[in-house]
Amino acid sequence: MISVIRKPIPATLQGNQATWTESLCVARKAFYDAEAAWEAGGRLGAKPRKTTAADAKNAWYGHPDIRKVLEEEMFHHKCAYCEGSVKGHSHLHIEHFRPQSIYPALAYEWHNLLLACGVCNCKPYKEDRFPVGPSAALAEPNRPNPCEGNQAEMVVLVNPCVDDPAEFFVWKFEASPAGKEVTPALLAKQGNLRGSQTITVCGLDRVNLTENYRRQIGLVDTALSLHKMAVTFSQEETRIEALESLRKFISPQGIYSAMVRAYLKYQNFDLGQLTQNLQS
Ligand SMILES: [Zn+2]
Repeated sequence: MISVIRKPIPATLQGNQATWTESLCVARKAFYDAEAAWEAGGRLGAKPRKTTAADAKNAWYGHPDIRKVLEEEMFHHKCAYCEGSVKGHSHLHIEHFRPQSIYPALAYEWHNLLLACGVCNCKPYKEDRFPVGPSAALAEPNRPNPCEGNQAEMVVLVNPCVDDPAEFFVWKFEASPAGKEVTPALLAKQGNLRGSQTITVCGLDRVNLTENYRRQIGLVDTALSLHKMAVTFSQEETRIEALESLRKFISPQGIYSAMVRAYLKYQNFDLGQLTQNLQS
């Protein structure tokens, strides 16, 4: 996970946010009221069903204008949590950091929208999970008025647009006995609770992801070897080419860039020669 700077709210969202939120909250309240009446009446007849209007509309919060800012300008087609590529995935998710099923008032709130891959954001990982600190009152909140904001609560999950992930996570690399293969692992920094909960809830240590991390390291190793060879044999053009390739790996557009940065440090590679002119 890397730190991401949030861009200004897209005009489409700004112009429609209030109407969309109200429409959702009215439908949500109608559902709660019908359910309460059904319970008060001795649960006679069929239990009221939640209508589609009582859930946030993907067509609204996933509007092309909103999607464009999230995908292209903020997250560079990468998942906010695992930094894997979401390019070309049919199940690209506009992610509600606070799930809309629990926080309907934030369903169309710009600061609550992220981009996530279909693995981090689905069962058995994040989906609708949103752990909060011990003093917080988490609820399917505010049934009488779903549009009312929630109480202040201690957020547990690390948010790349709010927190600095470097304060919560650390990468560890373990070389195989022959030294040929390196296995990376994402850990919570000094056992940090928010870091470890985020790893668990988003599945950032899942087997498939570790395989992807390892594959990326293989590509980085190729560029590192090329660089080393170019330095040894004073091949300036090749050296610059290798540096350019390494620079791409750690740019905000590079997948798993936080891991690659940590890996280059692990290999005692001087990152200073790559960080010039890099956009963050
Ligand atoms: Zn992901």
